[in-house]
Amino acid sequence: MTKEDIKNIKQLLATQKKIVIVPHKNPDGDAIGSTLGLYHYLLKHNHNVTVMVPNDYPTFLKWIPGNETILKHDSQTETCENLIETADIIFTLDFNAFHRTGNMETVLAESSAIKIMIDHHQTPDDYATYMFSDVNMSSTAEMIYHFIDMLGDADIIDSNIATCLYVGIMTDTGSFRFPSTTSKTHQIIAKLIEKGADNTQIHNNVYDTNSYERLQLLGRALSNLKVIPESRASYITLSQEELNTFNYKKGDTEGVVNYGLSLENIILAAIFIEDKQEGIIKISLRSKGNFSVNEFSRAHFNGGGHTNAAGGRSELSLKDAVEKFISILPSYNKALNDD
Ligand code: 5GP
Ligand code: MN
Repeated sequence: MTKEDIKNIKQLLATQKKIVIVPHKNPDGDAIGSTLGLYHYLLKHNHNVTVMVPNDYPTFLKWIPGNETILKHDSQTETCENLIETADIIFTLDFNAFHRTGNMETVLAESSAIKIMIDHHQTPDDYATYMFSDVNMSSTAEMIYHFIDMLGDADIIDSNIATCLYVGIMTDTGSFRFPSTTSKTHQIIAKLIEKGADNTQIHNNVYDTNSYERLQLLGRALSNLKVIPESRASYITLSQEELNTFNYKKGDTEGVVNYGLSLENIILAAIFIEDKQEGIIKISLRSKGNFSVNEFSRAHFNGGGHTNAAGGRSELSLKDAVEKFISILPSYNKALNDD
């Protein structure tokens, strides 16, 4: 984002605008934290702002300030599409291509509003009027902080904005441990705490509000964990039947893939989750070091993401998707054992 872009955006935001903010489908902590952080900021400038998500998100995010104002495109389609069609500005956050919003793809692509992309995923599509794209950023929430700062407004960050941005940074950095966490990230976190983000309470709200069934499902996932030592890889499966047994709710499998990566000497971890309703296997991939699960997912599982965290999907059966994964791994043994 150039100085000229910032000047133009500042001018654009100098008068009241109709603004829509959209994150990716299946929104995570960074998607909700960054959109709501920007929402509270734009409200301070008296804009007419709406956050709308493609579909629902986990309960452990449903306490974040502004949560109750979020519209869901899948259940409130007409309201959402009217707002998109009449919007002056659409902010697209935490995704790099319209198809990442699922069924919102067409209405977004056809909208004539000014589009501002703020995102940290690789290979962004070229649809935005103004693009703030940086793959080195820990999170989109961290980028929203920089965006507000570039607009000269870091001083007006209040406890609502700070809380939202803290959630986004905390969740996308695995609680400040992934390599994308820099000293700058910590400096921003320090400022957010000063502005009123209650760090202990936020960690508690996100991580310590598990249902008993969610922990039982985690137990099942861990007992399904398999290791492929020669590829320094591990994988977990969860069938639809297993999800049903433990009364699966959205978000219950969030973070489970990381357990596979916590094994000594393992640098690639996958989880395969059956989704009978969508007729797909949802795959999450995580890695350590230089092994790019973004490229791996793009090449084999119709997905993408970041070097160390990516998602994908397969239309094969659960068993066949796993077999495909196992059969591909040997061709990566050199890369997996080089690190
Ligand atoms: P997760 O495994 O938690 O769903 O996703 C990990 C990371 O990869 C997130 O940053 C997410 O936005 C990204 N991601 C997940 N699924 C896809 C996908 O199908 N395509 C792309 N390009 N990125 C994805
Ligand atoms: Mn993100």
